Amino acid sequence: MKKGGPDRARLSAWRLALCIFMLFASLPVHASDTVSLQEFAGKLKARLSYDPLTQTGYIERDDRFVSFSVGQPYIALNWKDIRKVSPPRFEDGMLVVSADFIRESEAFLKGSPAQGKASDYAIAAILVDPGHGGKDTGAIAELDSGRLLEKDLTLEVSKRIVELLKSRYPERRILLTRDNDSYPTLEERVDMANSIGLKPEEAVIYVSVHANASFNKNAKGFEVWYLNPEYRRTVVDATTVKEKGDDIAPILNAMLEEEFTTESIILARNVYDRLSSAVGKQSPGRGIRAEEWFVVRNAKMPSILIEMGFITNPNEGELLSQSGYLRKIGDAIYNGIVDFIEYFER
Ligand SMILES: [Zn+2]
Repeated sequence: MKKGGPDRARLSAWRLALCIFMLFASLPVHASDTVSLQEFAGKLKARLSYDPLTQTGYIERDDRFVSFSVGQPYIALNWKDIRKVSPPRFEDGMLVVSADFIRESEAFLKGSPAQGKASDYAIAAILVDPGHGGKDTGAIAELDSGRLLEKDLTLEVSKRIVELLKSRYPERRILLTRDNDSYPTLEERVDMANSIGLKPEEAVIYVSVHANASFNKNAKGFEVWYLNPEYRRTVVDATTVKEKGDDIAPILNAMLEEEFTTESIILARNVYDRLSSAVGKQSPGRGIRAEEWFVVRNAKMPSILIEMGFITNPNEGELLSQSGYLRKIGDAIYNGIVDFIEYFER
C-alpha cells in the first residue's frame, strides 16, 4: 500500500490520454518546409513517444533512439551523440520538425539494428525493498485463517527474489533494504540505494515490493508502478558541453533522463508480463502505472514498485497467506528482472 496517490494517478491518466490524443491527432495541413513528426515516424515504422509535461520525447526503431525536446535545437542519438537541428515545434496542435531534423534522424534510425548493447550501462547492483516493517505493519487484513500483515508478505517475497538473484548473479551486488522485521525509514532506504558505489557506466535497479488494501472487499489484482526519475544525474559528456556551451547542459540532461524513464517502463513491463503468466488466472493484472512516490522518486536509478494483490479481498487474501503463492510471485518478479537485465545488457 502506498501513501497518497489518486491525484497523481489521475494526472498520469490525463497525461497518457493527452499523449494518445496528440499522437493520433490528424496529420495534414502544415507548412511545406516542415513535416509532422507522427507522419515521419509512421513512414519509418518507428515508435514515437512524447511527454507533454516535460515536452520531451523520442523516436525508436530497432532499439535506436532519437530524443528531442520541443523548442530546443538539439537531438540526441542513443542518448549520447548530440546533433544540432532546427527545433521541433507545434503548428496547429501538431508536432512538426524541419528537413535537417528528418535528415539526421532518418540516417541514424535506418542504421543496422541494435548494434552492441541497448544501453552503455551495466547493472552492477539490484536493491530489493520489502515495503514497511517493524512498527509499520503496512496494510492489515483479518481473514478467516487469521490476521495478515503486509510487512510479512513483502519480506517473504523479497527474500525469495534475492535468494534467486544471488544464485544467478554471484558477481553482482544483490541487496535488501531490510532482512528482518525492522523499520528503515524511507530516507534510510533512499540513502541505502544512493550510497551504492558505482562506476560511471554502472547502474542499479530498485524493486520495491508491496501488497494492496481497499475498503472495497471486491478489489483484487496486481499492479506494477514505474516512475520518471526526477533527478539530475550529469549524463552529458564534459567535452560535449565544452564544444556546445554550458547553457545546453540542462537541456541535454533533460533529454537523456528519458533513458532512465524508458528503462523503468521496460523493467515494469517485464515484471508485469511474468506476473500475468504466473498468477494472472487467479489475480487479474490491473495494469502498469506511473506515479511519483517517495522512495522511487529519490532513488537515482530505474525503479519499480509492485503491488502483489489485495490482502483485503477474501479470495486474494487467502492466496497471499500461502507460502506457495508468495513463492510464485517471487519467482515471477525474479524472472521479470532477469528478462530486463538480458534486454539491457545484450
Ligand atoms: Zn505498502
